[in-house]
Amino acid sequence: MNLHEYQGKEILNSFGVRIQRGIVASNQKDAVDAAKQLTTETGTSWYVVKAQIHAGGRGKGGGVKLAKSLEEVETISNDIIGMMLKTPQTPAEGKLVNQVLIAEDVYYPGDSEPEEYYMSVLLNRATGRNMIMYSTEGGMDIEAVAEETPHLIFTEEIDPTMGLLPFQARKIAFNLGLSGGAFKEMVKFVSALYTAYVKSDSSLFEINPVLKTSDDKILAVDAKVTLDENALFRHKDYAELRDLREENPIEVEAKAAGLNYVDLDGNVGCMVNGAGLAMGTMDLIKQAGGDPANFLDVGGTADAQRVETAFGIILKDPNVKAILVNIFGGIVRCDRVAQGVVDAYKNMGDKINVPIICRLQGTNAKEAKELIDNSGMEIISATEFQEAADKVQEVLAS
Ligand code: GDP
Ligand code: MN
Repeated sequence: MNLHEYQGKEILNSFGVRIQRGIVASNQKDAVDAAKQLTTETGTSWYVVKAQIHAGGRGKGGGVKLAKSLEEVETISNDIIGMMLKTPQTPAEGKLVNQVLIAEDVYYPGDSEPEEYYMSVLLNRATGRNMIMYSTEGGMDIEAVAEETPHLIFTEEIDPTMGLLPFQARKIAFNLGLSGGAFKEMVKFVSALYTAYVKSDSSLFEINPVLKTSDDKILAVDAKVTLDENALFRHKDYAELRDLREENPIEVEAKAAGLNYVDLDGNVGCMVNGAGLAMGTMDLIKQAGGDPANFLDVGGTADAQRVETAFGIILKDPNVKAILVNIFGGIVRCDRVAQGVVDAYKNMGDKINVPIICRLQGTNAKEAKELIDNSGMEIISATEFQEAADKVQEVLAS
């Protein structure tokens, strides 16, 4: 689950990671009030107005602006709230900005050498260990750094039984070229950051930039935090951080209906029971020359109601030109599923405007095929996996 910058920073702060202070606002008036409150708390008289969307590269897209007075906070907030912000990470039409973070300006005026670093914490899937990835080349496009000057990106792997050891935090501060007070501050920053990552059950922290001020403070200016959804049951208070406005509406609806649905780019809708079979089905569609429009696991109980809901969700994607139902009947008998498909088809009437290919295998597969073939519905039945994928290609070609 992705978070907004302001939410990520609050989590970091709760574990003692120093952050650029800020207050979120969803209208001009609240933005000005936020700026006034920041001045009371921090003494700052300059602010940054930062668009809150689930995408990076906001600075380049005009979503991060410096405001040197309360008047500027007001006008800039007015410009940014409600804009469709386009960045390299948003869809082409951009993303609607609902909120801005009003933050203290931490790049002191006259400070000739603010240093910006890159730091992330993530799982290295190859070794099964968490690692801290960091670079002196922060603030900018880290993908470009990785491409052009990969030797400037360092990694530090962490032994899960030991946690981050003090020498590792010192090594990181050293590799970043720090000394004196800034070195000590970085050691504290890295330790707190890693504790926050583990304790919040996150799957990604990306802090770009980490800033060193001229008075040797180290702080997080940006924060991209992804929480591991499978651990949300341990963090009831994090559940409310979900911003459904940022998520794919079809995926949100599917989730509410208890279906595992992931939107993809192709034109073959898939309805499958079990995640493994769903992946196998997508592979087979690809091999037959097609392209899956989604991943959809309807789960164990593929009754008429569920099948109907699933059809409805698949058909919301305008790219879908055919639907492949591939169900293995183990505990759920195939004839019951077939009945579900037929009933759903009847109930939905002409809402189903694409061919449906249905392959049911397992307990009572024969009865299921008969049921479908005799239903009078335009459902194409198949017995073998490959046959089903080929039939999908046939209907797409015709
Ligand atoms: P991103 O573009 O989405 O990654 O957003 P960031 O939060 O990283 O902000 C983009 C850039 O804005 C940073 O790299 C900084 O250079 C700049 N910026 C952020 N905070 C401040 C600030 O307090 N003062 C000034 N002058 N610039 C800032
Ligand atoms: Mn950034």
